[in-house]
Amino acid sequence: MEIMKCNCCGKELIEKQGNQREDSLVIVKDWGYFSGKDMERHHLVICEACYDNWVSGFKIPPKVESRTEAL
Ligand SMILES: [Zn+2]
Repeated sequence: MEIMKCNCCGKELIEKQGNQREDSLVIVKDWGYFSGKDMERHHLVICEACYDNWVSGFKIPPKVESRTEAL
C-alpha cells in the first residue's frame, strides 16, 4: 500500500488496490528545453480541498465539463 501525501497540506492520501481512497489531482510534468528546469520531471499530488483553494485564486477558473460516466 503506497501512501501519498498532498504536497500542499501534507494530508495522507492512501492508495488502496490501485484506487485512491480520496480523489486527488496528480501532476507529472517533464519540463522542457525552453524552461529553466530542462530535463527535470516534477511530480505533485494535490488533495481536493487544496485544489479548490488553489483554483479559487485563479483569474480564469478551470474549464469544467460534466461527464455521464464516472471513471
Ligand atoms: Zn491538501
